[in-house]
This record gives sequence, structure tokens and C-alpha cells, in this order.
Amino acid sequence: MTRIYNSFSELIGNTPLLELHNYRRKRRLDARILAKVEYFNPAGSVKDRIAWGIIKEAEDAGKIRPGDLLVDVTSGNTGIGLAAVAASRGYRTKFYLSDNISEDKVKLLRLFGAELVIVKNEFFLDPEALDKITARVRDENPTAFFTDQLANPVNPRTHFETTGPEIWRDTEGTVDIFVGGVGTGGTISGVGKFLRSKKPDIKIIIAEPALESLPTEENPYPDEIDGVHKVSEVPAEQLPRNFDTTIADEVISLNTADARATARALAAEEGIFAGTSSGAVLWVATQLAARPENAGKVIVAVLPDTGERYLSTAATGEIS
Ligand code: PMP
Repeated sequence: MTRIYNSFSELIGNTPLLELHNYRRKRRLDARILAKVEYFNPAGSVKDRIAWGIIKEAEDAGKIRPGDLLVDVTSGNTGIGLAAVAASRGYRTKFYLSDNISEDKVKLLRLFGAELVIVKNEFFLDPEALDKITARVRDENPTAFFTDQLANPVNPRTHFETTGPEIWRDTEGTVDIFVGGVGTGGTISGVGKFLRSKKPDIKIIIAEPALESLPTEENPYPDEIDGVHKVSEVPAEQLPRNFDTTIADEVISLNTADARATARALAAEEGIFAGTSSGAVLWVATQLAARPENAGKVIVAVLPDTGERYLSTAATGEIS
């Protein structure tokens, strides 16, 4: 079957589910792990979905017109997705991002023509950081359209309408456990809500960074897992509005070294080179697959982006 696509947006979604046979055999796991490989999206991450979802909603509602400026706060992937969609539809983009994101992501944002405002990583230690940065973005860009990935309901809705149904369809309803990380919370909340509506006893599990991988006053630049945040023991008002705090059955923490090692193992054993948050999600999926009560279960692990996006960081530093 041949098909010619007509725009960038048509290339988004319908990413493949890959069963990790070699990975499972090597560890003698009794559960199946299916990786939803989101780097198949055209700008390389799961965030292409919400970039298009948010822009389409704004276009349909008459809120934006070609030439307009789109602004957001991003750890990179949402900005890259928005900038790519914007390039294909004639918008300008401007993003606020912390100064610890990978060099590769900064280069991609510039390549797509985005204007960048760099914020010190220490700023995000402030418990009111999310509210403060949101207020600053609105203040400094009164005429721009704020895509607002942290609170825009189109973010989780896009996952409820696309990522969740794709997983249900491709597993033919056999999925038992879904594992993801939380940045904005859009993926876990939207996919979780959809899958639970189909199968009430589905397990939704979050992979979060351990305390030792997080920035502190003494060490504001630790080796972090790009794009995902801690959610347990965090007061509800400090969590993104798009994160449904009731969605998860369990939250499992891990350190960055384990996430990186798992991403490298996936590349070596299956030929799939995904990013550090993907390594984190797969590490958690592996712990779940090793539990006796999960024998024979189907675990879906969402891999948010490509490892190529971290080539300039410690991701590959230990590979010679
Ligand atoms: N992994 C990476 C690499 C990301 O960029 C993000 C989004 N910041 C996530 C995971 C988390 O996705 P979500 O925002 O849907 O919670």
C-alpha cells in the first residue's frame, strides 16, 4: 500500500509497540514487556502529540493565526514538538527552559527557529516555581498564545484520545500494566484514564527519580533524568495541574545511573536507543516483570524520546 502524507501533523502518533523478546529472555522474566516507541514521532518524542493537539485546538477555536507567537515553559521535547509543528504551519515560537537541559535539545530548538529564554535550574527549587514561571510567561508575552503544557487540558486529552486507544487496540485489550514517567503528567493521566475506562483493574505505575538524583541548594546540577519529576511526597499544589494525583496504583523511584544503564541495555539488546526517562520507565517495568504475581502479564512501557537527544550528555559517556 502506498500513501503520500500531506503535512507534518499527519506523521504524528500510531507509534509501534515492540515486544522486548531478547531483553526478557536474558533476564528470564515471566511477564511480557511491550515498548511504545515514541521516538517514531516526526520530531522525535511523545511531545509531538500534544504540540499538535494544542495547536489544532487553538486553530479550530480561532485563537491563533499564522504569524502568531506561541510560548511555553519546556524541558525541551514539548518545545521541539511545538517548534516543528509551528514551522510547518507558519507560527513563531519562544520557550523558557532551564539551563541544565541537554545541548542537543538546545541545538534542535534553535534549528527549528525558536527564541529561547534560559532560566537557572536553581529557580525550580522554589516550591512556587511553577506558578511563578507561569506568571512570568504571561507577563512578558501579553499578546502571545501560551500553549501552557502544564495546565492546558488538551495535553492529557490528547493522550486519552490517541496514545491510550493505540495501546488498547495494538494489545487487543490484553494490557495489564502501564508504566510511564511524569513531566507534565499528561501521558500518565490521559493514557491511565483511557485504559482504566476499558479495564478497571488495570495497574498504572509511575517511574520517578530518587531523591539523590534531584537538585538541591548544595548541588543544583546533579545528573538528572531529563523530562521527569518526583511526584511522591510532593505537596499537591506543587505538582502540574495536568497530573491526576489519583491515577497511579504505585510510584517506584530509581536513580539516574540505573535509568542510563537500562537505556544502554535496551540499545545493546534490542537495537532501540531511547532517552534516559525511557530507561527509567523500562527499569521500573523490569522490576514489575520480575514480581511472581505478574507472571504472564502484559506490561506496556512508554519510551518518550530518542537517546540521540542526549548524545552530548553522560548518556553515552560510559560507552567507548
Ligand atoms: N520523558 C521525557 C524525555 C519528557 O520530555 C517528558 C515531558 N517533559 C516526559 C517523559 C513526561 O511526559 P508528560 O509531560 O506527559 O508527563
